[in-house]
Amino acid sequence: MDTLPSCTACPRLAAFLAQARVDHPDWHNLPVQAYGDPAAPLLVVGLAPGFRGANRTARPFCGDRSGGWVYQALHACGLAESPDPMLAGGTLTGARITNAVKCVPPANRPTSAETRGCRERWLTTELRDPTIRVIISLGGLSHQAVVDTLGFPRKDHTFSHAAEHQLGSLVLLDSYHPSPHNTNTGRLNWDQFLGVFRRGVALVQGAGASA
Ligand code: SF4
Repeated sequence: MDTLPSCTACPRLAAFLAQARVDHPDWHNLPVQAYGDPAAPLLVVGLAPGFRGANRTARPFCGDRSGGWVYQALHACGLAESPDPMLAGGTLTGARITNAVKCVPPANRPTSAETRGCRERWLTTELRDPTIRVIISLGGLSHQAVVDTLGFPRKDHTFSHAAEHQLGSLVLLDSYHPSPHNTNTGRLNWDQFLGVFRRGVALVQGAGASA
């Protein structure tokens, strides 16, 4: 059985990473594993590694501008030792971060076959972890991947910022992706983003009312 670091099941993505290893030999340039507390009740799910972010640093949402807000929000909620994931004190407690697709895709866009294949191969196992109670999806495609992986109909679970979905024993919280495209245009502001993380923590702690 293959392991995540050696997975080359998607030919297009494997070729893209092979070229990246030539162009940037000091970068990670392999599938990116989940990062954080292995017993976390809160799981943050993005779509795929960023080329100069997680694909470079080997840590989801680490090393690019999108990731800055993620770690700052985790820090503000008491889940990250530091708001800077590059520091040695970037340890997460009570939270874990992963991506639905583990390899960086060209132009940040995996194909539907790549997304389906990766979630069946890897995300399914991650979401079966019985310690997880709340999932925060960053972006609509991540939301779809989680809903599909857990076997719920998309039509019953439409993505919108701060929406909550009961998926069996899990609660899925939606957030717009904190990409510069969203944060620079005002589509997503810091308070909206942090509010989703605070709500996630409240749910983990058993609070039913909106935070
Ligand atoms: S995207 Fe997932 S399934 Fe495809 S090669 Fe990477 S790790 Fe393997």
